[in-house]
Amino acid sequence: MAQTSVLDGLEEIRADLAVLYRDLHQHPELSLQETRTAGLLAQRLRALGFDEVAEGVGGTGVVGVLRSGQGPVVMLRADIDALPVEEKTGLPYASASRGVDQHGSNVPVMHACGHDMHAACLVGAATLLARARNRWRGTLLVVFQPAEELGCGARDMVADGLFERFPRPEIVLGQHVAPLPAGFLGHAAGPVMAASDSVNVTLHGRGGHGARPEAAVDPVLMAANVVTRLQSIVAREVPPAETAVVTVGRLQAGTKENIIPDTAELGINIRSYTPRTRELVRTAVERIVRGESLAGNAVREPEFEWLHTLPALVNDLGAAEATLAAFTAHFGTARILPMPQVNASEDVGVFGETLGVPTFFWFWGGLEPEVVIQALAAGEIDALPANHSPVFAPLIEPTLGTGVEALVVAALAWLGGPDDVSGR
Ligand code: ZN
Ligand code: ZN
Repeated sequence: MAQTSVLDGLEEIRADLAVLYRDLHQHPELSLQETRTAGLLAQRLRALGFDEVAEGVGGTGVVGVLRSGQGPVVMLRADIDALPVEEKTGLPYASASRGVDQHGSNVPVMHACGHDMHAACLVGAATLLARARNRWRGTLLVVFQPAEELGCGARDMVADGLFERFPRPEIVLGQHVAPLPAGFLGHAAGPVMAASDSVNVTLHGRGGHGARPEAAVDPVLMAANVVTRLQSIVAREVPPAETAVVTVGRLQAGTKENIIPDTAELGINIRSYTPRTRELVRTAVERIVRGESLAGNAVREPEFEWLHTLPALVNDLGAAEATLAAFTAHFGTARILPMPQVNASEDVGVFGETLGVPTFFWFWGGLEPEVVIQALAAGEIDALPANHSPVFAPLIEPTLGTGVEALVVAALAWLGGPDDVSGR
């Protein structure tokens, strides 16, 4: 079978991939600044003899094209950016890096979402598929996408001509490492990841002495009321059968305890799965902010700066079925877990949405299976170190090997076989 012989090379490259992973982990780069990472990845693809390798696509994106005769065009995507998180894993290859974020602040940087694992696995899959080029037919489009964490990387690559300058895929495949047992895959069909909308709100009061509140208009009190009142949207407005999340992740006002500030700022994030709920929550957020601003006697209308918005990620049912059949044949049913919807968001859906082609995006585990089993037994699954945590530390193996296998198996499920010159 094609996949078996392509995967034969895995043992040989495992150690080298681990070196690459540790290097990426130790040198994380913030979104839109992934220059060192991009350089390393592009160099890898060139060394593999890819027919085309381009850097700087949509900022710091890297694209590789590998052709092997007539057949389907299959896209494999990995994101490559890190987060402003101070690593606390204590690993020998932990990051001590710092960077300057888009607001100009000096921040610690860590691959706390596992995008280093995604990139290393895609290098592994690209290596195996390049070395066994005669075992498949078609075109492999390898996409290393920057700035997933800002929600703009996929759009930036598309806007920079990704699908005009390079072959247009008929399927987009990708994966995310998750707090599941290492060696296991998790999947869902239909809407699997939430739409995400973020808004910065500024409330306008009138500053003054903390001892003379009657002479001031306090934006801190308005902001506090907004925070609690926003929680009524999900509790009282969203139908119970629907899901939404409203989080105030940033609340900033003032400089000193006895000064009433002029303004207060809130950074609000919304997650939803359907366009209707999405609109309902967005509208309710604005209404509540305006209402509390009016109730607090604000000196000016509040301001709303809607930031990145991401569509919900919908796994195509047919694509899920076809790819899962290949996963089941390779991994066996025992290593494939059905998953609930994930309230995190991803911009991988932008590619398929742009082209009108299916996307299949799956999850795979990075945690010690015994630890996950114990947490499950204790009912403490939420206490496991998950993505974006300063202690998120996927096991290098079997996570790396499983991620490479999954990408290769998925790609081969869509590429033509060696005897199947016409494609699928
Ligand atoms: Zn993330
Ligand atoms: Zn991520």
